[in-house]
Amino acid sequence: MRQNPGKTSLLLIYTGGTIGMKERPSDQTLVPFDFSQILEEVPELGKFAARIDARSFDPLIDSSDVEPGLWLSLASLIEQEYDNYDGFVVLHGTDTMAYSAATLGFMLENLGKPVIFTGSQLPIGQPRTDGKENLVSAVEIAAAKDERSRARVPEVSIFFGARLLRGVRATKVNATAFDAFRSPNHPALAEAGISIRYRDALIRRPEREDAPLRIHTKLDTRVAILKVHPGITEQVARNVLLGTGIRAVILETYGSGNAISKPWFTDIVREAADRGKVLFNITQCLAGEVDMDLYATGRALKDAGVVSGGDMTTEAALAKLFHLLGEEADAERVKARLSEDLRGEISK
Ligand code: ASP
Repeated sequence: MRQNPGKTSLLLIYTGGTIGMKERPSDQTLVPFDFSQILEEVPELGKFAARIDARSFDPLIDSSDVEPGLWLSLASLIEQEYDNYDGFVVLHGTDTMAYSAATLGFMLENLGKPVIFTGSQLPIGQPRTDGKENLVSAVEIAAAKDERSRARVPEVSIFFGARLLRGVRATKVNATAFDAFRSPNHPALAEAGISIRYRDALIRRPEREDAPLRIHTKLDTRVAILKVHPGITEQVARNVLLGTGIRAVILETYGSGNAISKPWFTDIVREAADRGKVLFNITQCLAGEVDMDLYATGRALKDAGVVSGGDMTTEAALAKLFHLLGEEADAERVKARLSEDLRGEISK
């Protein structure tokens, strides 16, 4: 689909999810609509002085079924079309949007154009849909330029419920409200009210404007997440931390990075680290950061070889591990790079 030949050109990429669903008159179930007809559903898009092309994935999926193959297809589509468009808007289910945005954030290096994920809680065909507002604002932001005619937001981000959030900082916080995403440890990059207010000082730009886009396609997903909780058994901890086929474990710990201080637990953690597994400490709290020097329980993890995840989200921690394990064979190299700020995912 092509319309409005103009200066700015955008590519809408529909991967699936609620936003592109319509009620089927025959049985009232939700089914994806033909995306080449997007202008019929959202005539507001025709008002932009931009050329908007649309591409649908096949098959369209509920984002609960996202697999690394989808991330690879998205990254290579963006790479192929990079010179043909000024920005990209990815329509994606909300359930795993934060995972996909974080992973694409690490896969795309030297990004000089916007890649904005959006979606909705209600299908775009329903009268009270939040999809139109989300889509129209995401398109406006993807088309926005600064005073030097450069993309205003050259980051992988999520636009949802009036906020533009850095992808590697975002998390879904509400299953039903329209205002469903937050980046608890980082301010929004922009907020949409009567006008869109950009926080330009917070928006990351590529280090060199002329550096070409680089995509990283090697992902190693042999990562497990162990959420520490009262009553966790030794067997569960052992199965996850010492399990075969697992190169890294995210320990979702209490508060500022604390876990069980009993020797049975720290012994398993130490054994996992000694076996060359990468152990990454992320807090279960929505906001704040891991500091393993604060309490003896945290210090015990640090001494056993666990790396601090600082104020990263679990989604970003997982994506960063997929990326670094794909790039590096050596666990020590992975550990060293985990603490580096690669895409604005961690505060220093
Ligand atoms: N289950 C849907 C999905 O993530 C929910 C949504 O799109 O909001 O694809």
